[in-house]
Amino acid sequence: MPTYILALDQGTTSSRSILFDKSGTPVAQVSKEFRQIYPNPGWVEHDPMEIWESQLFTAKEVIKKAGISPSDIEAVGITNQRETTIIWDRVSGKPVYNAIVWQCRRTSQLCDELKKDNMEPVIREKTGLVVDAYFSGTKIKWILDNVEGARSRAEKGELCFGTVDSWLLYNLTGGKVHATDFSNASRTMLFNINDNKWDESIAKRLSVPESLLPEVRNSSGYFGKIDKTVLGAEIPITGIAGDQQAALFGQGCFEKGLAKNTYGTGCFLLMNTGEERFTSSHGLLTTQAWGMNDKVDYALEGSVFIAGAAIQWLRDEMKLISHASESEEVAKEVDDTAGVYFVPAFVGLGAPYWDMYARGTVVGLTRGTGRAHMVRAALEAIAYQVKDLVLAMEADSKIELKELRADGGAVANSVLMQFQADILGVPLVVSKVAETTALGAAYMAGLAVGFWKDMNEIACHWQEGKRYLPRMDKEGADCRYAGWKRAVERAKGWAVGHSER
Ligand code: ADP
Repeated sequence: MPTYILALDQGTTSSRSILFDKSGTPVAQVSKEFRQIYPNPGWVEHDPMEIWESQLFTAKEVIKKAGISPSDIEAVGITNQRETTIIWDRVSGKPVYNAIVWQCRRTSQLCDELKKDNMEPVIREKTGLVVDAYFSGTKIKWILDNVEGARSRAEKGELCFGTVDSWLLYNLTGGKVHATDFSNASRTMLFNINDNKWDESIAKRLSVPESLLPEVRNSSGYFGKIDKTVLGAEIPITGIAGDQQAALFGQGCFEKGLAKNTYGTGCFLLMNTGEERFTSSHGLLTTQAWGMNDKVDYALEGSVFIAGAAIQWLRDEMKLISHASESEEVAKEVDDTAGVYFVPAFVGLGAPYWDMYARGTVVGLTRGTGRAHMVRAALEAIAYQVKDLVLAMEADSKIELKELRADGGAVANSVLMQFQADILGVPLVVSKVAETTALGAAYMAGLAVGFWKDMNEIACHWQEGKRYLPRMDKEGADCRYAGWKRAVERAKGWAVGHSER
């Protein structure tokens, strides 16, 4: 009887479950979108119960779809949207507040205070991160400060904090396990990546009681068993990694210097730096890639907050398209944007700018600007933002990128992929398995139970799907990119002094 690994991929816009066979091929997949909640400008929340229920729904459905029994699953791996913060009651499992999503800007002012107190160099040195509302630390403080009774309950040890992996793990194990892995812990702004421990002094500065924090474990290793009542069989959970680190793993970037970019809601460029902790001087983050066999590997990371989300915005708010995939046909109606640049800084700008107060901006509009130009400008903005990251990474690592491995939902868009290759001037290689995030989590889980022997076996699975070669002349690419840089200047600092908090 063949057996499988089940990957639970809890993304920002959808929950997904995918079954992988021994060759690393997805055999069945089910996904479900869930609600995005925007209570105030710049605020983003999810309902934790919807996260859990949509994830559970897809897990049950994928088992049905593949026609297998839950006992045919050897192990489960979890990968998740990172930084998103949930606090729940340790006993009842009831969340005290909605999940505050990584994109949410509500703690920007608190971050300003930390910067004013000169905490930035300390936080950078200890956590590898910049001080930004993006990370979990200030989101935890916000919940404890603003939800009635939360702080006193937290101080009594009655509450649990978790990123989405911990939340799913807690629910899957019937409330028995409160843990996370290195890759997720290193995104909280509370975890010391030098000695691999929660940092007492940062936790104290943010008034986060230590009892709130999950136990941190290896990404590939035993976390607990799925409670029998959940899927009908006790299945070990043996892999957890944040989505971007999981994608780095799923892309087979096991060696120092290998990099991938994921085109999802946001864009995330990660380069494996092995056991070396690079400190960026170009606005990138130092993060833990994964912990395996009690050894932690590191990565240099650049993140763009709004990438595919700009396409969703065109679809949902502007109603310029009815499906994300329609952006490709519409963009093809024109050869270029006719000088229009769209900076989708809806929630500020991430690397390399780190401007919490930047806001979305469209420049270069003329009387002739039409829908196709706007749609094309949104796609091009994704590519320009990735170029920003690539330049920063090359400057920090002194490694010139020869090609870029690409994955994520938006790699389906050939206009975007071609423009990306053009603007970067290097080939863009889309892996055959598009779901590399889920695959990475499956690999981690499978390695821990001997489903796959070692990383060499896995590395052999990686296959090229499609390759986009640069076609644009360098002068044209440079000229367009210079236009983008000018547009970014217009978007910066817009919300300073604005009542948006
Ligand atoms: P996440 O895991 O962050 O939820 P996915 O990797 O599933 O994201 O990618 C979904 C994102 O990709 C959405 O933001 C969507 O707008 C975008 N997207 C999906 N298909 C296309 C397409 N054909 N062209 C452009 N963008 C797309």
